Amino acid sequence: MNFTIKKALIAVTNGYTTTDVQVVNGTITAIGEDLDIIGTEINGEHKLLLPGFFNAHTHSSEKWQRGIIPPLPLELWLAHLYDFTPLDTEQVYLSALGTAVETLLSGGTSVVDHLVLIPGQELETITTAVRAYQQVGIRAFIAPLIQDESLTAGLPGGKSLPEHESYFRPTAETLGIIEEAIIKFHHPESGINILVAPTGIQLCTDALFTGCAELSERYQLCRHTHLLETKAQKKLAQEKYGCSGVEHLDQIGFLNDKTSLAHCVWLTDDDISILAKTQSTVVHNPLSNLRLGSGIAPVLKYIQSGVNVTFGCDGASSNDSQDLLEAIKIGSILHNVTDFDYQSWITPRQAVEMASLGGAKGLGLADQLGSLTVGKKADLVLYDLQSLSLLPRTDPIGLLVLGRPVNVVNCAWVNGKQIIANGKFTTVDVEELKTELFNRSQWETRGTSPGVAQIETHYRQVMGL
Ligand SMILES: [Zn+2]
Repeated sequence: MNFTIKKALIAVTNGYTTTDVQVVNGTITAIGEDLDIIGTEINGEHKLLLPGFFNAHTHSSEKWQRGIIPPLPLELWLAHLYDFTPLDTEQVYLSALGTAVETLLSGGTSVVDHLVLIPGQELETITTAVRAYQQVGIRAFIAPLIQDESLTAGLPGGKSLPEHESYFRPTAETLGIIEEAIIKFHHPESGINILVAPTGIQLCTDALFTGCAELSERYQLCRHTHLLETKAQKKLAQEKYGCSGVEHLDQIGFLNDKTSLAHCVWLTDDDISILAKTQSTVVHNPLSNLRLGSGIAPVLKYIQSGVNVTFGCDGASSNDSQDLLEAIKIGSILHNVTDFDYQSWITPRQAVEMASLGGAKGLGLADQLGSLTVGKKADLVLYDLQSLSLLPRTDPIGLLVLGRPVNVVNCAWVNGKQIIANGKFTTVDVEELKTELFNRSQWETRGTSPGVAQIETHYRQVMGL
């Protein structure tokens, strides 16, 4: 747990400097030149040291469907996703492992997994994800995905559909499962955190939101949900509440400084003021928003209004990858086509800060994580500046963010524990993971989806298509 990185490149105002970093018992204890070597010596020469990033919104188990769902908007894509047979716990384990590995290989040391639960095996699903994340050693924020309305309720006018039925489990029972998971698994000191995480206004009642808010008060937990990802959800919110989804969540007390909100594409200026007032965090998932045609989140407006913004990959079947550097790149340049005033565009350094400190802020941990600061936890990543994709030598952060970095993570630590050394995992056998993923799947394509067929006519009609 004790080590000293020698001669690493770090960013300072207006440039870079070469420095040493000491880590004792998982905490950064000194940053400076010519420090004594405590514990293991790590050669930082020709390498860039950055705080670990946060993959601040994903759904690990979607890995099993990546690449297979045709181009569809969220509501129909979701119906397609629901056609797949439910996963088993071994698949949950392998996809959580794979999500952690891909996140770490692209600079992430923390993951927020809005975890899809196997019906009837909810606690087993969470137990399995905990096991996978502990094995890899990534800092995990498990946000068990819950809802208490059936899929058709998520469509504007959906309650009038003939196949609309009520959800299979009462709300109180769902909250009971979450409370059990909190008591059993919420151990921040060991790197496993539980978040309360209703899926979103489209599939949840107020009782579920307020029940989650109560649990978060009782156990001091962060809150996480999807928010106004699509135009259909904006329409639905008006129908359901007679006001915007953001206004409603504010009225029922769900928004606070420990609430992170995935997507936030369809917000009004008034909504943005509410996010600023409540100090909620926006998680920008640019690739998913492009893939599903959801829209371009107005992140520059968020930043200008003082709203904290960080990045997520979103689930691997709406992305269809878990490359955090790719999400950071697209997420920091996408709005350049909608906001012509280039003076407010995001610089690579800002993007790095959003992905690290921004992620920590969204989880109420800015005092412990997210920057190279003495006293903070050592969640660190060392990038190989001699890697082909980071050459020739220009601005290392500029090229890391704007280039297409491949195999650039040389070392990674979480809480001072080394997870990657010289580009190789020390905690999991990636070759074995690859074999398992290969053997448990097959090449396939999917044609028509019964789920999509059921709702497509209605969807096209309400969306004016
Ligand atoms: Zn999502």
